Amino acid sequence: MIYHSTRSRAEALSSREAVLQGLAGDGGLLVTDDLPDLRVDLAEILSGDYALAARRVLGTLLPDFSADEIARSVDAAYGNTFEHPLVTPVTNLGDMRLLELFHGPTAAFKDVALQMLPQLMSRALAGTGRRLTIATATSGDTGKAALEGFADVPGIGITVFYPDGGVSDVQRLQMATQRGENVSVAALRGNFDDAQNAVKALFASPLRGELDRRGVTLTSANSINIGRLAPQVVYYFDAYRQLVARGEVKAGDPVDFTVPTGNFGDVLAGWFAKTLGLPVGRLVVASNANRVLADFLETGVYDRRRALARTTSPSMDILVSSNLERALYYLDGMDAERTAARMAELARDGVYRIEPALLERFRESFAGGWADDRAAALAIREAWEDHGRLLDPHTAVAWVTARAHAVPDRPMVVLSTASPFKFCQSVWEALYGKFDFAGADPAGAAFAVMDALAERTGLEPPKSLSTLRGLPLRFTGVFDVADAPECVRRTAARL
Ligand SMILES: *Cc1c(COP(=O)(O)O)cnc(C)c1O
Repeated sequence: MIYHSTRSRAEALSSREAVLQGLAGDGGLLVTDDLPDLRVDLAEILSGDYALAARRVLGTLLPDFSADEIARSVDAAYGNTFEHPLVTPVTNLGDMRLLELFHGPTAAFKDVALQMLPQLMSRALAGTGRRLTIATATSGDTGKAALEGFADVPGIGITVFYPDGGVSDVQRLQMATQRGENVSVAALRGNFDDAQNAVKALFASPLRGELDRRGVTLTSANSINIGRLAPQVVYYFDAYRQLVARGEVKAGDPVDFTVPTGNFGDVLAGWFAKTLGLPVGRLVVASNANRVLADFLETGVYDRRRALARTTSPSMDILVSSNLERALYYLDGMDAERTAARMAELARDGVYRIEPALLERFRESFAGGWADDRAAALAIREAWEDHGRLLDPHTAVAWVTARAHAVPDRPMVVLSTASPFKFCQSVWEALYGKFDFAGADPAGAAFAVMDALAERTGLEPPKSLSTLRGLPLRFTGVFDVADAPECVRRTAARL
């Protein structure tokens, strides 16, 4: 099975190479034209568990890894790293279901993919005689999940850059206390775009060649890597299995999913699951006030020419949803030339329009909706007061959107992407108004809100968050954007 770019067929990669490389050489995303013909045996998955679903889905999408390699990877990634025995349990919220994706080591859904990616990368690397160094910019969740996934993985080093002052207190502490001999974290002066541009510049800088001559490949761990997408397909199958096992769904009947969306990776994984044979009705794409995707699904016009709003669901504050390019490619008849033309238009003009027939094909699988911060805050309050469920702001956006799209008699599963304790302050304000920091130790302000929220709600924060307070701070340096290459050089020197 061959992976190639969404924008051309010039490059032909195996799935092992695709995982190591991440992005196509021409800037496109890696896809396989075999996808429409691939199937996963649903009956077998319904009689298994999370690990079985993971083995079958990964084995199907990444066939160059042996069954043994996949089984070992699944074991290492999910065997004892998640706090819940089901890994991603389905629970109730009124007449809907929540698919809880936040029981991993960093309390956000990015863990599901970033516990697996290092397993796949290190196995793909074995025998090549090369080593990898990863550079990633983060606005919060990805960086920590990547650090935790790659910590002490032999032959791989990782440097994470985040905007100084641009992440939540809990997120900063999560990164500053990261364990592992092969990791480093740098706060950069500037905003997230500056950090992201600094990382992009690394790939075009002399550093890349310098590392290459020493046998070290510079790569990234961002969400367009097929090795991050494939593990996310698994929990759609497993959620369906849980519903059938509980007698809430008859095997073969359709289920709808609502997905809080930023880069379009998570919801695209749902579309992959549908393509592989899971009975999915509709995939509802939930956005916050940055509603580029909701507008796109309504009008067929993708228009990023607008100001980015900062919301209480920061992991969805995004104007260019990179993974949408894969959906465009597949739904537009796998036409790489047309996909390339649309992406060139987006880069040049900031906007493109799809034809009515293609928009119809999108709407057969996807619906779009959005909720602003105020609607999300009201939903957090309603979920808590009426149902005793504490939602993080990303999940709240999805719940609001799900209610506008639910169909009678068809189960709706809302993907819950973060622990509410990761966004304590927004959750507190939604429930009780402004938090009174008077008397709180400024260095421990994050824990003041976490403690207060735990006490008022009677819920326990995830251990990975509450135990941060006892850990030594390892990474406190603040750097200029110009220092980024030196940060990576130093991490790579330890390989
Ligand atoms: C990354 C993230 C999202 C968005 O997922 P995409 O795959 O980028 O669409 C939603 N919620 C949380 C908490 C996240 O960290």
